[in-house]
Amino acid sequence: MFEATPDLALLAGVLLGFVLPGLVIVMITGGLGVSAAISALVGPASAGTGVMSAFVVASISMLALAASLIISTFGLACLISGTVGLQVQRASVADIVSDRSRYRGYFHLLPLAFMVSLGIEAGFFIAPFAMFSPRSLSSALQIIPWLLIVAGLTWLCLVYLRFFSRRVLAAHVGPRPPKWQRRLLTLALSGLLCVMFVPLIFGRILIVFPQDQYRSGWMWFLTLSFAGALVFYLVIFGASWILVRLRALSSPANCPSCNRVTRQKYVVGKFCGYCGEDLAAWLFV
Ligand SMILES: [Zn+2]
Repeated sequence: MFEATPDLALLAGVLLGFVLPGLVIVMITGGLGVSAAISALVGPASAGTGVMSAFVVASISMLALAASLIISTFGLACLISGTVGLQVQRASVADIVSDRSRYRGYFHLLPLAFMVSLGIEAGFFIAPFAMFSPRSLSSALQIIPWLLIVAGLTWLCLVYLRFFSRRVLAAHVGPRPPKWQRRLLTLALSGLLCVMFVPLIFGRILIVFPQDQYRSGWMWFLTLSFAGALVFYLVIFGASWILVRLRALSSPANCPSCNRVTRQKYVVGKFCGYCGEDLAAWLFV
């Protein structure tokens, strides 16, 4: 009942793959529009008038484009975090209650991540004009490693979610469910996925539309954004771990009934050693 289901992962991937090409088109057209507006404004400005206003307009439009890019990519990431992510949160807590092996659960996330990547590919295929689908045999072959990288990065994000769901949700004491903690976890997963999308989208564009002229520049950007995404992942993982440790040290979990400090790492399904009260009543309400 609390297991994450592969069909939902596939469906979320299909939706993501269906919407993504449209978003990329909107962003490219927006970017071209902004650069055209800038050159139109800077032209007369270079004659000596309105340099400042041209600069202001250019900055505002660049900012607006960047903001809409971030918001829409974040929305796409929520397609995964709001569905598969919530299931993984539940499964992580349920695994502790049922005392399942702790490492096997991380490997169980692999098929889920793979279903997401397969779904994205299917979404690309059924999207209008199938813009991101391969047009030649060589690009079709390059899709295979791309899909494996998508699955790998999605898996890394789900590993983060499971790791911290166990430490945050399963350590939550009291009658009220850990609402804001769940929201924070969903938000963190969306942020991680959002950053992972950048090298994936650029890699996909390079595969489908080979840029022979500027290939080295594109490859540099791809490598840098890929390395940047991995560093971002490590930083967020480390920062979250420090926050969770600090919180556990500064406010140790107390029994909701007798208020004595519990010594248990995970409290779901456990009872107070002093008064016998259910430590995580929120789970069964
Ligand atoms: Zn107690």
